[in-house]
Amino acid sequence: SSGLCVKDLQVEYNNGQPALGKVNFILPEHGIYTVIGPSGSGKSTLLRAVAGLLPDYAGQLLFNGKAVQDKETLIGLVPQNYGLLPWKTVRANIRTALRIARPAISDKQEVESRIQRWLTSMGISELAGRYPLSLSGGQQQRVAIARAFAIMPTILLLDEPFSALDAITREALQVLFLEHWLAHPVTALFVTHDVEEAILLGQQIIILPASKEETPDIVDNRAVFG
Ligand code: ADP
Ligand code: ADP
Repeated sequence: SSGLCVKDLQVEYNNGQPALGKVNFILPEHGIYTVIGPSGSGKSTLLRAVAGLLPDYAGQLLFNGKAVQDKETLIGLVPQNYGLLPWKTVRANIRTALRIARPAISDKQEVESRIQRWLTSMGISELAGRYPLSLSGGQQQRVAIARAFAIMPTILLLDEPFSALDAITREALQVLFLEHWLAHPVTALFVTHDVEEAILLGQQIIILPASKEETPDIVDNRAVFG
């Protein structure tokens, strides 16, 4: 089956308490899927599982029929705190990500022109030589999104990327993100605690319940996307 298939996913941390109940869904490739739910419902845990950051879980995580941990599946991550390396310039942050995720792109000019193209499309080409901590939150998040798209991931994971931003910056970045996604429709799982954001961005909305005994609801949001 194609797309992202989560089958009977169940996660417990060391304390033996369920962090995520039995989660089942199949999400078609090339969509944005938003994940909402109360604090503690397992949103971050779900992303961590798909990212391959959990040593242990029950169930299956497949992308186009293959385990997401396979080398063929490249995961891009946009964390809430941007996740930029503070000792590297904006340009070098993206270069490092490309080197790790896409070692096959080894031509230096090709790498630099990709970086430039992505910074330009995010409206931040003039920030290439700056260090992350000298930038505003909105600018850092633009860098983080540029970096995530630049590696051309199979699955893009976003963990409340805009929740630390003021409302105006957040709206600007929601639009920018949607524009970029429409040009490069990667399969994206987008965690948010903002219902409006979930409805704005998600073709489908995964609602994680507070209780780990209940199954998540999946709401089709096609009315918005047509
Ligand atoms: P959300 O992102 O929806 O707030 P989390 O995925 O962070 O939810 O947490 C789900 C549950 O797992 C919560 O009960 C939380 O306390 C627990 N949890 C999260 N991370 C850890 C951890 N590293 N060790 C133990 N328990 C954890
Ligand atoms: P190139 O012309 O270098 O072969 P493409 O035409 O494939 O690159 O893509 C143009 C730009 O879009 C490049 O900067 C590339 O990094 C980016 N890109 C291509 N595919 C995707 C994707 N699926 N997700 C995100 N970015 C992508």
